[in-house]
Order: sequence, then C-alpha cells, then structure tokens
Amino acid sequence: MRKCIYLLVLPVMTFAMAAAGGIRAHAARNITVVIDPGHGGASDEKDETNSGCKYHGLEEKNVNLITARSFYDELSQYGNVTVYMTREDDREVSLSERVEYAESVGADVLISVHYNASADHNFFGSEIFTSAYGECYGTGHALAECIMDEWVSEGNIRKDIKTRIGKKGDYYGLIRNGTTLGLPTIILEHGYLDNDRDYQRIKNETAWKNFGIMDAKGVAKFYGLEKDVIKEDVGPSVEIENPSDPVMPDDTEPTGVRLEVDSYNSNKGNVEFTLYAYDDESKLMYYGFETGDVDKDTVFPELEMWDGKNGKLTGSFHVQPGYEGKLTAKVFNVYQLDSISNTVELVPDEEAEDDEEDNALIVDETESEMAEEDTMFVDEIKEEPDNSWIIGGEIPKVDTTAVANAIDKNTESQVRKSYIGLIIVGLVAAVTIAVAAVIAISSAAEKRRKNKRGRGLFDD
Ligand SMILES: [Zn+2]
Repeated sequence: MRKCIYLLVLPVMTFAMAAAGGIRAHAARNITVVIDPGHGGASDEKDETNSGCKYHGLEEKNVNLITARSFYDELSQYGNVTVYMTREDDREVSLSERVEYAESVGADVLISVHYNASADHNFFGSEIFTSAYGECYGTGHALAECIMDEWVSEGNIRKDIKTRIGKKGDYYGLIRNGTTLGLPTIILEHGYLDNDRDYQRIKNETAWKNFGIMDAKGVAKFYGLEKDVIKEDVGPSVEIENPSDPVMPDDTEPTGVRLEVDSYNSNKGNVEFTLYAYDDESKLMYYGFETGDVDKDTVFPELEMWDGKNGKLTGSFHVQPGYEGKLTAKVFNVYQLDSISNTVELVPDEEAEDDEEDNALIVDETESEMAEEDTMFVDEIKEEPDNSWIIGGEIPKVDTTAVANAIDKNTESQVRKSYIGLIIVGLVAAVTIAVAAVIAISSAAEKRRKNKRGRGLFDD
C-alpha cells in the first residue's frame, strides 16, 4: 500500500513546518504556471503522436488546445499567478522544447493537457501522471489531488494519480525532462474519447472548456490563489510529502480472482454473481465477463467499474438466454494489469423453460425491475461519481437493460404466440365436438321419429 499524506492545512502552518526543515513550501509573490496542450502539428502517417488519439472524428491535439485555452483564461483571472502556454495553435513542438520553454519562463509547475484512448477501447476514467521522484513527486502528486478533486466533484470517474517508470526513469519524456530540471510536471488525462462511458459526458466543446475551468480551480486551490485578489505571498496550501525513494507503479496483477454464480435464470440469461479480487498495491478498477473459451490475452470488451475495494463484489450479468457453457470473469487494477477468474459452467434450468405460465410472470416482473435498476444506475454515476478506493461506493450494476429488454420482448411475443395457438386449437376442437354432437343428436332423434312412425304404421 502506497502511503500518501494529504492534509488540508493553513498556509501559515505550511510556513511553520517548512521553517522546521520538513517539507518544501514554495512561498512567493507570484506563481508561474505553464500549460502544455499535448501534441500538435501535421500528422505523420507513421507517427501519430502529433495528433494524439483520434476517435469519433476528433483529433486529441485540437481538443487539448480547447481545454488548455479555457484553463489559461480561467487561471489568468486569479491574483499572484502568471500563466503561459507551450503552444497557442496547431503546430509541432518537441517534448524537450516544451520543457525548455517552461524552464525559460521560470515555471513553478508544468501541466500537460491530454485526452485518452485505449487499444481495446474498453477503459474509462480520468487519471493524472506525475514523476516518481522526490520533490517532483511531492508537488506533482499534491497538485494532482487538487485537480482530481475538481474533476470528481463534477461527475468524472477517478481512475487514479499514478507514476510510470521506464528504462531511463520517468516513462513519459515530458515528465522525465521536467524532473531532470527539478520542475514538477504532470500529465492530465481528462477522460477516454474512445469509450462511451466517458465520451457521452465529454463529447462537446462545453465539456472540454469546463475541464479547463476545473483544472484552473485545482491549481488555484493548491497554491491558495484567489480570483482578482493580490496577496502578500502564496504557496502550496496542502501538505507535501517528498519521498526519498521513487514511488514505483504497481507491477503485479490482482490476486485471488474468483467467480461464484449465485443463480442462473436460463430463460432470461440472467446470472447473479459474486466476484472476489484483491490488490494490495493499487486500486481495483474494472471487471468484465466472457462466455466460451478465454485465456489471459482474451479481450473483454465491455468493462464495468469495480467499487475499488479489496474483497467481494456482487451483481448481475446477462448471457444469451438458454446459454449452456463457460463463463469467466476478468478483474483489472488501475495500472491495467488483469487476472482472470476460475471458469463456471452455466447449465440451463429445464423445468423453468417448460412452465410457460410461470415464465410469462417472470418476464413481466423482471422487465419493470430492470427499467428501475437502469434509472438508479444512471443517477449513481451523476450523483456519486467518486467510487473511490477508500470511501467506496455503491456496488456497480451491469448495464445490460437493452439486451434484457430485447430478450423480454422476444420471449413475451413467443409466449403470446403459443397462447394464441392453444386458444385456436381449443376453439376448433370445441366447435367440432359441438357440431358432431348436434349431428349425432338430430340423427338419433330422426331415427326415433322414423321408428315411432314405423311402429305406428304397423300399430295403426
Ligand atoms: Zn495525448
């Protein structure tokens, strides 16, 4: 478990502690912030780094610039701060040029603005990368927490604040170059443009500009800046811990991933499950299911959010109705390392299938239940975005209403069809019997009449 001391204290206390020789507290008349809109410039066919990620017809470099301009405009309204940008239009700037520029204007911090995408388009959430080393970690991490707080307060999903190490130190060139110069550098990954879970919330200019405002508010909070107010001096308003050893990223997968199926309604394809997983180094972030044969490399395209806590999670999942076969789960931590569970064999319940009347009832009940669950699920995202590791949150539910509704409608119409068939057969049978009875009765009566007449003739 990584230690992270993060306490809100008065700036006065910060000075006192700094004087005692503990933490670094940068107090000055003015703070210099350099905003770096990630990527930029014409795209090379072979090297797409200039555009950044591309999705939904968007190029990340352009979205970054919109957020960065809004960030600049907002932060410039605060006192005791000077703001610069590494690029103000669509042009190529190398990573070392960005850092050199920041150094040349005396930056206290360099903040790079980005949006995310993943190879399998299944990840979502907002994350921030910081240096793993000393004061660059201390300042970077504390500043990142202030910005993350703003994001989460407006309904964004906290992935995490992370370090990433490569062969030469910090993995990202911008952070590595910043760290070399002792300049705290952070990379803001606001959200995933290629995953609907994020994209639906962050797909327009209003959202991109709003991120810039949130970023500025986070910086202002960190340095104790106030809008239109010039103070005697300003500095970090939160306690900073500068680690003596590098803060290493988690490099091990979650452990103890175990799947238990509590019930399986094969008509509905509804699986009630309990999933167990543990990770002592980082937060558990996603889980997903796959049917059929899977191995370590199988892509689980639809992921749901784990509640972040070690231990167990319960929920429901939908498979094809009547499905008979394997079901396996996968659990990811925030470092995108994953482990697959044991495989459970799903066996259809045949009794339930034969009982049409019962099934019809189940279909109706579940339909209304599912609709209600879906509404609750959407509200949870809006009102309780911080399904954070420590605080926890509601157990996420698998959002499969569309599939369930389609299945419901299908099953319902089949049940209806078979009812109508039965009724028609019944009616035909009843009419046939009735006609036969009438014929039989009338022919018997005719016979009797004939007999009577015959006898009468003889008798008379
Ligand atoms: Zn980027």
